Amino acid sequence: MNHREKIKALAVELTQIRSVVGTAGEKEVAGKVYDTLAKLDYFRNHPDNLRLLPVRDDPLGRNSVFALIEGTLLPEVKKTLLCLGHIDTVGVADYGGLQDLATDPAALKEKLAQATKFSEPALSEILSPDWLLGRGILDMKTGVAALMVMLEHFSRHPEKMAGNLVFFAVPDEEGNSAGMLSAVQDLAELQAVRGWEFTAAIDTDFMTFRYPGDENRYVYVGTTGKLLPCFFLYGEETHVGEPFNGLDANLLASEVMRRIDLATDLCDLADGEVALPPISLHQRDNKTEYSVQTANTVNLYFNWPTHDSEPAAVLAKCRAKAMEAFEAAIAHLNAEYMKFCQLSHIPFQPLPWQPNVLTYDELYRQVRNEMGADLDRILDGLIRQLRERGADDREVSMAIVDEVHKHCSDKNSKIVVYFAPPYYPHNFVRDGDARSDILLSAVEQAVATARQRYDYPIVTRKFYPYISDLSYCGIAAAEHMDKLTGNMPAWQLTYHLPVQAIQSISMPVVNIGPYGKDAHKLSERVCLNYSFDAMPLILQRTMEILLGVDNQEEPT
Ligand SMILES: [Zn+2]
Repeated sequence: MNHREKIKALAVELTQIRSVVGTAGEKEVAGKVYDTLAKLDYFRNHPDNLRLLPVRDDPLGRNSVFALIEGTLLPEVKKTLLCLGHIDTVGVADYGGLQDLATDPAALKEKLAQATKFSEPALSEILSPDWLLGRGILDMKTGVAALMVMLEHFSRHPEKMAGNLVFFAVPDEEGNSAGMLSAVQDLAELQAVRGWEFTAAIDTDFMTFRYPGDENRYVYVGTTGKLLPCFFLYGEETHVGEPFNGLDANLLASEVMRRIDLATDLCDLADGEVALPPISLHQRDNKTEYSVQTANTVNLYFNWPTHDSEPAAVLAKCRAKAMEAFEAAIAHLNAEYMKFCQLSHIPFQPLPWQPNVLTYDELYRQVRNEMGADLDRILDGLIRQLRERGADDREVSMAIVDEVHKHCSDKNSKIVVYFAPPYYPHNFVRDGDARSDILLSAVEQAVATARQRYDYPIVTRKFYPYISDLSYCGIAAAEHMDKLTGNMPAWQLTYHLPVQAIQSISMPVVNIGPYGKDAHKLSERVCLNYSFDAMPLILQRTMEILLGVDNQEEPT
């Protein structure tokens, strides 16, 4: 069997093992990956180089699969290439009555086309033999299959490799990245013991079109990151009978929303590539009942993609926008109040509100100065309660801010800017950095090889645009992390990131993924063309170059 047929067959086999995140299927598919690799001669001869590694502190007892092929071309090989794939998928509820067939690529095609109304061209693609359907087949069982076939390929000739090849297949990517966050700690330990020098990380997660009619096939060097900046707005409640006596936190929230939601002036622009704008994920006032009193507090937060802005920069932008919003709300209230005074023939006096924006760190320090260690005791109790309740990380974060503010002597209106989990660092592969240049050049050479052989319009870009485990192959430098950790109330309480481990393995990343459409939708499908011919070729050439393999034979 050539690579194309092998990858296709394995992609279907892996898809057939349903491995929805948070279910026992994740363990099952890890077992399948392990068993498949265990049959290779290399791992029979080097059984210690293939392991099921338990995910640390995982209540579900899940495993990652670790495989190592040690290059022997040079003595004392330290250079190490990391290959990554996730083995979990999102759920199957979207398949409705066809859930049983969601992970059966052969049966799903016809049944899905009959049961669901698709418009063209989706319908013809779904029915075409050029496309395979199934939950996870695109995101990312095909990518994992491609890496496993590469392991088989490279394991035949470790004597040609001037570097080590490490493969990690991890669960929980679609959840909280528990697999990857555990793997980075394993990698940091191995690196310390064996003196490894990581050259790059290759992921093979899916790739799709960027706009309607886009026929390009993309290879992405680096990845986008994301932050979750939040705004806790404290207004001055009032009875609806005296509307100008208060500062409605909902009005304040609207002003913040209008300035941040989809605001392109907040987009990161790095190497000419623009990140997506921030978008709101939550806006809610904290009133629990109907009453004729205006809302006193509102919480809102935004998904904020990054290409090069570190947490401190995002915090500064949020603070500036909050200040603008506050001033605009006060100006609006004064203008309307003035008109109202004229209409009702009463004297106008400017309203007393003053804009006031602070970060969580500033609020905490102020209150800590006022009340000392009592504050921390109160917070400990609160966190215990929240944990018992199984509160979500966002809820925990807001509850802490709210509690700290309750003890603040300054009860004037204010906006508190803070961060909630998760934090996904971006990975910006900058030209001019030695390791980055090696990766960029390897990818360009590999793509050039594929362009010679195939007609696909293959384009290399910076920043894989979807949030993925690739984010945890690097993290902001320590001086930038302070602004994040100091302003993230849940940090080290309910949210943990192995920052030191990530900093120590930190490396440039690339995503060389299969092409398909509709990941996370019931029409999730992978295209045989490109995904099973050009993509594995680009993958193989990139790996050969980074592993110092002198490629004499034609790739299969
Ligand atoms: Zn994925």
